[in-house]
Amino acid sequence: MGEGWVGPVLRTGRRARRWRRIRPDTVTLDRRAFLTVAALAAVRPLRLDAAGWRAGVATVDITPRTSLWMAGFAARTAPSSGTRQPLHAKALAVEDAGGQRLVVVTLDLLGVTGGMSDRIGAAVARQHRLPRERLLLASSHTHSGPVVDTQLMVAYDVTPQQVRDVEAYTTALEAQIVDVVGAALRALAPATLHAGHTTATFAANRRVQYSPDGPVDHRVPMLRVDIGGAPKAILFSYACHNTTLQASNVEWHGDYAGVAQAAIEAAHPGLTALFMTGCGADANPKPRGTFEHVEQHGQALATAVRGAMASLTPITGPTRAALDLVDLPFEAALTPDQWKQRYGLTEPYVGRHTRLMDEIRARDGALPTSQKMPLQVWRFGRDLTLVALGGEVVVDYALRLRRDHPDDNVWPVGYANDVFGYVPSKRVLDEGGYEGGGSLLYYGRPGPFDGTVEDRIVASLSRLMRITR
Ligand SMILES: [Zn+2]
Repeated sequence: MGEGWVGPVLRTGRRARRWRRIRPDTVTLDRRAFLTVAALAAVRPLRLDAAGWRAGVATVDITPRTSLWMAGFAARTAPSSGTRQPLHAKALAVEDAGGQRLVVVTLDLLGVTGGMSDRIGAAVARQHRLPRERLLLASSHTHSGPVVDTQLMVAYDVTPQQVRDVEAYTTALEAQIVDVVGAALRALAPATLHAGHTTATFAANRRVQYSPDGPVDHRVPMLRVDIGGAPKAILFSYACHNTTLQASNVEWHGDYAGVAQAAIEAAHPGLTALFMTGCGADANPKPRGTFEHVEQHGQALATAVRGAMASLTPITGPTRAALDLVDLPFEAALTPDQWKQRYGLTEPYVGRHTRLMDEIRARDGALPTSQKMPLQVWRFGRDLTLVALGGEVVVDYALRLRRDHPDDNVWPVGYANDVFGYVPSKRVLDEGGYEGGGSLLYYGRPGPFDGTVEDRIVASLSRLMRITR
C-alpha cells in the first residue's frame, strides 16, 4: 500500500505567492503593492487589516448502514450491532491571499489505507484541482468505526461476503470524502485564522512495562476559523489512542474524540469541530473501558478547547505545502516462530498472517522489503507549521520535531494519509513489544522495521521543513 501516489514523489507548493503582512498602519505601501491590493479587493472583499484568508467547511455522515467488522481490536469476535454515536467526515478548506488552497479532511475512522489515499487524492486532484500535497486525510483512530479497504484482515475471521460488504462501504466512503472536499471548497468565504494550544491530561504512556513513567504529549494544538466575525470551524488534535471503549463495544462510536467534537458543536451552534490524532501511538486514555470514561475524557477535551478558543493568535500566509514518501526497510520477513517468540503473538493471528504472506508471494513473486510512509508539511507563513505523519506514530517523534525545530511552531499530527502500521522511534524499536514491531503482524506486514527507521523519517522531515521555508 502507499505505492502509486499522484505525480512526483516530492511536491511542493512553490508557486505560492509571498504575501507580506499589510496592516492599516503600514501607509508606505509601494505603488505596485497598492495596485495588487486594489486589484484583489476588486474581485473579492479584502480587508487590509486581515491576511486575506478565505475558508469553508463541510460535514457528511459516514456511519455504515449495515453491519461491518469494526477496526481496531483483534479480540473482537463479531461485527457491529448498531449505532451509539454517528461517525463523520469533515472537510476544512482554507485559501491564502494568493489563491493557494489547503484542505484537511478529518475522519471518525481508525485510518485510511494507502490505496484509499491514492484513489481519493487522484479524484480530488481531477475533480477539484487540488494538488495532492495540499490534501490531508486525517483520522481520529476510533476503534469503534468500520474496517475499511484491506485494513487489518489478519485480525478477524472475515467471510467472503463480509469482505464484499467492506469493499462496498469503502467505495461509497471514498466518493463521500471527494464530495465533502468539493463542498468545503464551494463554501469558501472571507475568513480569519487563529492558532494556539491548550492542554488535556488524560493521555498516559501505555508502555509501562518498558518505562513506568514514559513520555507523553499533553498539548492540544488548535486552529480557529472565523467567518463573518463568528467561529465557523475549530481544528484540534490530541496525542492519545482514541480507545476509551474496548473490544466489548460493538456499536459505532467516535470514542472520546467523537464526544469532544459533538460537545463543542452543541455549545457553539454553527461551528464545526474537526479532530485529528497526534503522535499518540504509545498513549492510552486513563482510565478507560466504560461509556462513563468516554464521556469524561470527551468532555474534558471539549472544555479545554472551548476555554482556549478565545485566546488564540491570528496567523498569516502564504501557505506552503510539501509531501514525501519516505522508504522504511523491514528488518526481515519473520517466520511464524519468530513472531511468537520475539513478540509473544498467538494463533489464530500468526496462522492468518502466514497465509496472507503466502498469498502475497504467489501474487507478487516476493514479499515487500520496505514500506512507504507519507510525510507532509504545511506552513502558514511563519506562524504555524503542521507536520502530518503516516502510520501510528509514537510520541518520541512529536517531542523530537518540537526540539529540532523550536522556531517553527510545529503542530505534529499522526495517523495521516496512510495508516499502514505502527512507527516506532529507535528507542521503542529497541525496547520491542507491540508498538516496537509485534503490531505489524496484524497490519499484514512481513516484519518489524530495521534500525534506520527514525533516522530516515527525521532526515526526510528536515528536508521538507527546509524546502517549505
Ligand atoms: Zn492504534
